[in-house]
Amino acid sequence: MTITNLTDTATLSNGVELPWFGLGVYKAEPGPEAEQAVVWALEAGYRSIDTAALYGNESDVGRAIRRSGVPRSEIFVTTKLWNDSHGFDKALQAFDDSLNRLEMDYVDLYLVHWPVGQPSDTPIYNETWQAMEAIYKSGRARAIGVSNFMVHHLQTLLPTVNVAPMVNQVEFHPWLQQPDLQAFCRAHQIQLEAWAPIMRGRALEVSELVKLGEKYGKNAVQVSLRWMLDKGIVTIPKSVKKERIKNNADVFDFELDPADIALIDSLDRGQRFGPNPNKFNF
Ligand code: NDP
Repeated sequence: MTITNLTDTATLSNGVELPWFGLGVYKAEPGPEAEQAVVWALEAGYRSIDTAALYGNESDVGRAIRRSGVPRSEIFVTTKLWNDSHGFDKALQAFDDSLNRLEMDYVDLYLVHWPVGQPSDTPIYNETWQAMEAIYKSGRARAIGVSNFMVHHLQTLLPTVNVAPMVNQVEFHPWLQQPDLQAFCRAHQIQLEAWAPIMRGRALEVSELVKLGEKYGKNAVQVSLRWMLDKGIVTIPKSVKKERIKNNADVFDFELDPADIALIDSLDRGQRFGPNPNKFNF
């Protein structure tokens, strides 16, 4: 598989097409900053936007999409259920609230943001998932998935489902590769999607990525993004700056040599910049 275009897509297990590359808007300030970032991204050719109830900018995302003039059907919109909305009824309500803020009648992907609660036979996220399935069956989310689920969370959830998650969005970058999770998701046809794919900007300080950038005429951020595309992982780098939004997506005119992919593979340190899903319970 070679990904050569900003609009190229991964085919999810239910046949829905998810662009390999999108814009994340975590910490894009609600209001004009978030709205403008989304407009710039759509102008630059992005066709996937990743927001969440937590980010407080769903309404800005919706407004930007309407303002852009790009047909809604050409844009892949992801949002997420926050931790205070677990449980069947609360999850249905949270989804309605997100749709209302987006001013949309459907989203392309709805994710359970975190596997809250201690692992047990009956964690609350199993109940939440029943609501996710109801939402999916209603046609108001074209795909459903989870986020920050480790292998053991998936092993608890999967035996209870009628519709399996199509996506797992997790922290993923050269210093946090989670090979066990990669293998598990591949085996279960769950598409892995990377958050913090450029290590929140720190990719620019990783000397191996900088060196590879010199070889390919790219910067270290672009090398990191190309590496995950070459590995079949969906990516959603965030920026609110017009030039960065454009440059981050300038990764479709090169591919890394297998030896360079292996070199980046060897940088894994199991190092997180965000919370550990096992210790994130509220
Ligand atoms: P990223 O790795 O995408 O890094 C974003 C940071 O890097 C911002 O501070 C941005 O600043 C900066 N940046 C962007 N481009 C460049 C560049 N070319 N050079 C230097 N710095 C740059 O981290 P995120 O945590 O934002 O992850 C991406 C997305 O993933 C989020 O926006 C969100 O949509 C999603 N996410 C999901 C989570 C989950 O639990 N499911 C958790 C966290 C994120 P600036 O904007 O000023 O350019």
